[in-house]
Formats: sequence, structure tokens, C-alpha cells
Amino acid sequence: MAHTVFKNVFIHPAARRSHILVQDGKIEAIDPADDHAPDYEGAKVIDLDGAFVYPGFRDAHCHLLSTAEAALGLDASNFKSLDSLIEAGRQAIASGGVKGIYAKRLNETHFAHPVMPKAEDLDRISEDLPVIVVRVCGHLASVNSRVLKDIPELAERAPDGVVLENDIDLLPSLRSFFTKDDLHRALKQTIEYMLSKGITAISSNDLGRFGKDEDEALLDDVLSLFPGFSYRSQYAPHLPFDPKELEALADVDGIKPAVKVFRDGSLGGKTAWLRKPYSDDKQTSGQDTLDDETHRAVFETANRLGLQVMTHAIGDEALSRTLDILESVSDPLNPLRHAIVHAQVTDDRLISRMRNLALAAIVQPLFTRSDSKVAKRRLGTRYRKAYDFKQMANMGVKVAFSSDAPVEPLDPLLTLQAALRGKPGDSLSAFSFDEALLHQTKEAAFIDFEEENTGMLAVGFDADFAAFDRDLRLQDARTISDAKCVMTVTKGHVWPPKS
Ligand SMILES: [Zn+2]
Repeated sequence: MAHTVFKNVFIHPAARRSHILVQDGKIEAIDPADDHAPDYEGAKVIDLDGAFVYPGFRDAHCHLLSTAEAALGLDASNFKSLDSLIEAGRQAIASGGVKGIYAKRLNETHFAHPVMPKAEDLDRISEDLPVIVVRVCGHLASVNSRVLKDIPELAERAPDGVVLENDIDLLPSLRSFFTKDDLHRALKQTIEYMLSKGITAISSNDLGRFGKDEDEALLDDVLSLFPGFSYRSQYAPHLPFDPKELEALADVDGIKPAVKVFRDGSLGGKTAWLRKPYSDDKQTSGQDTLDDETHRAVFETANRLGLQVMTHAIGDEALSRTLDILESVSDPLNPLRHAIVHAQVTDDRLISRMRNLALAAIVQPLFTRSDSKVAKRRLGTRYRKAYDFKQMANMGVKVAFSSDAPVEPLDPLLTLQAALRGKPGDSLSAFSFDEALLHQTKEAAFIDFEEENTGMLAVGFDADFAAFDRDLRLQDARTISDAKCVMTVTKGHVWPPKS
């Protein structure tokens, strides 16, 4: 492959105009853009005309397939009332050709009466066609009577049509409402969108328990259209857990997939597992969606096979149980880089236990904004110490930022913006620009075992970078999201492609 030179860029944090020389996907040289610059004979020249260049952004935890699927289904995130949801559902059916309604990202806390719709409510959309409405957290759903009729087990377990946690597995997939070509197109558009925003790598929870047999081939097919774009799989084993299922994951060359398990649900759905009852519902402390014995078996199997485990734990009890198990089964240096995803309800004691186990935290700065109302209600005084991501970083926990898309948008500038702002009313929880950037690049690369290849702009590293029309570091939290990504480069491949 010929050399490519990316001319006239400002590389963060240096203020000096530079040229980046790339060969075979690697940065071969970074030269000052002055009279002494080499003439790069024979190299393909791309003049970036003073753009500001950053290491490619990584999303440390998202759901690529669900994000693409959500683009196909009805987006319910902006409905502020049950009536508006019903109206949109009726219109979609009236437009013809649909097999049913599959709505995603509903946030019923926006409703005047903030409860999930019941079957009788959704029957107002249709009594004949299936109607499924999934909450924004993905841990709670509502279905109409037609769906209950089709799935007797569900009718027994959720007679009112409100479906909780593991029962969601019983629902037909959004996929069954669309064709494979629809999904292929939506996946392609999702990756194009990420590249247009400066994302060069994702760690994505698609395969396994929530996936379908054909997903892996479909993903491979779409990803092959985007050379250099890095996809790491977070694989969720089926339940009940069978250790044999993980053996295939260990049997790959290079970086192995991570194992993703869920220790609890979500705060919005009151299924995040708390030590003490919910402040707005003393009847419940949430749900244990695994159990100690299975969780321990997952860690023991993963340790034996050399696999990393990422545990979804939002509540303090879910986190504490995870730490109990890790303290008894894992090497304190954590060579497999086991990580917690979310870690939203914590205290300093839990954070120091995470640090002592060298555990990494994959967190979502955008949640500190979007969850703040519901989290205050659910947690009461515990909210003060919740979403304590800055404290985790201060105390020495490795922290990687992520969107958890489709929960939040796949736009790294929005995540940066949320990190710069911190928790509402808590300036100490705000990150500096340099810190926030690190958690979206270098530290995120560490969690995916890629820190020696990428996450930094240096000679010998992969040519993974994003060029913006202005100096992001000089923006404040208000203006940073106005910046435009003008080009993304994945291992030397240029997006949008240049002929
Ligand atoms: Zn997730």
C-alpha cells in the first residue's frame, strides 16, 4: 500500500501544524509542517487544511444491532404522553404494509401518569396486530393482548402486559417485523453515522443470548464494508449458563471477545439491585438477574479460558456481590481486565474495592444528565454519591466512556459534553477536556487490550484518528457539540472515502 500523507493538521495537544505520514495502516512519521518537511515523493496527499486531529474515538459499550434495529422500529423516545404513542402507532398501521408495531426507547417518566402502558392501552393501537413497546433501558416492555394471546407463557407471567427483565427474552424480536435487507441497510447506515462522528472502534454487545444465529454472519458482512473500523464483541452467554458455551470464544486468534453478563436491570425499571429499598417504592430493592453461583461459575470459566468478563451492575448490591465473587476467584492484578459496566450507585468503599481489584469501569456520562430526574427519585439521598465517575478516576479506577447506544446517541462529542458538565449541580463531578478525551481513547483502548496499537497519535500506532473543524479543547461544554468531524481515518482508510 502506498504512503498517504495527511497534510496541515494540528495534533492534540501540540499547537504546531504537522503532517502525518501513514503506511500500511500505521503512523510512520509525524513531521512539522514547515520548510524542513520531507517532500513525500510518491505519496497520496490529503490536505486537511488546518483541521484539529484527535485519536479515533472509541465506544466502550454499545449495542450495534439494537441501534440499527431501533432505526427500523418506531422511535418512542420523544413521546410525552400515552396518547401520542397510540396516535403514532395507529398512523404507522394506517400507512400499510406493517406486520405489527415494535416501538423502542419509550421513557414513560415523561408521561403525566408515569407508568408503562398496559395491554389494554396498547390494544387501542391494534387488537389484531402484535404491538410491543420497549422501555429506553431495554429492561422493561409493554405488549398488547395479541402478543399475550400468541405467547401463553407470557400471558401467565405478565397478565397485564407489562413485561419485566428476563421475560423480555420471550418476546418476538423486532427483527421478525422486518426483512434481512432492511437490517443490513440499517447496520450500514449506523456504522456510516459513527464514522461521520469520529468513532473508529466499538465494543458491542450483540451476540449470544440476545442475538440470533445469523447475526454473526450479518455483522461480518456489513463490517467487511468498513476496513479498519474495529469491532469487538461482548458476548452474552445463554441462561442457564453452560461453561462449554464460552470455549468457542476462547478459541480465536488475537484479541478475544469479552463475556457480558447482567447482574441487575435498570434504575428506570426499578430493577437495578440496591442494598436498601427504592426511595420511591419501599416494596422493592430491585432484581438479581443472575445469582451468585452462576456469576461465580462464569468468572471461574472465564479465568480458566483467559476471557475477560464485563458485568452489567447498576445498583450497589449488584456491584457489591460482583466484588465479593471477584475477591474470592480472581487475581488481584486483574490480568484479564474484568470490568463493570455502568456502576451507577456506588460509594467510596465500593470504589476502593474496585480499585483494589484493578477493575475497570465502563460508564456513560450521558446518563448523568438523562437519568438525573428519575435517579433522584429512585435513590433519594443516595443520589449524592451516584454516577461518581470522576471520583472513580480520581481514586485510580480505569474508566472508559461509552454511549450504551441505542440508549444514548453514538456521538462522542455528546459524551464529551456530558463529561465536561458532570452531574447537574455538582461541579466536582465534571471532567476536564483532556481527562474526558483520555477516557474515550487511550483508557477505552486499554479495556479492549488495544492500548499498544491505538488510542494515541504516535509513530508506530494505528492510523486511527478523527479530524475536526475546530480545536475541541478550546470549546466549553455549551459549544463543543457544534464542532464538525470533517474526516475519520481507520487504520489508514479514509471516511468518507476519497477516490
Ligand atoms: Zn448496554
